[in-house]
Amino acid sequence: LLTEVRERVRFCEVCGNITEQVRCSICSDARRDHTLICVVEEPKDVVAIERTRQFRGLYHVLGGAISPIDGIGPDDLSIPALMRRLGEATGDDRVREVIIATDPNLEGEATAAYLSRLLTSIEVPVSRLASGLPVGGDLEFADEVTLGRAFEGRRIVE
Ligand SMILES: [Zn+2]
Repeated sequence: LLTEVRERVRFCEVCGNITEQVRCSICSDARRDHTLICVVEEPKDVVAIERTRQFRGLYHVLGGAISPIDGIGPDDLSIPALMRRLGEATGDDRVREVIIATDPNLEGEATAAYLSRLLTSIEVPVSRLASGLPVGGDLEFADEVTLGRAFEGRRIVE
């Protein structure tokens, strides 16, 4: 049975979230706002943000964070896939905001800084969560209220 479950679980072809289908239930939900993309490190961060009920857009799961010490660079994450995704969304689907919700630690900050530069250079509006999340921790460990407030108070990066 365990093997069966493992075989069924795969990554969404659009956002990289864990799913049993080709596309996850969030990406296939037409009621969600497809012009908002929240970038997170891991599938468990999607679960944490969904719990707050503050966000009705889509996600992009990076599969980790930039960490020079561990030899993890931008190309080891799904950053090239994010750039393709943004490039393909044109017309009414054009992405109007990318919310960077990486972990509030060193690697998460480095990843957020890199993405902010990259995305503002191609003129995609970028926002960061408001401060107030426990520093040094994982996004998934923040309680719903704190994470919800950080979401509501997000600011566009200039
Ligand atoms: Zn998806």
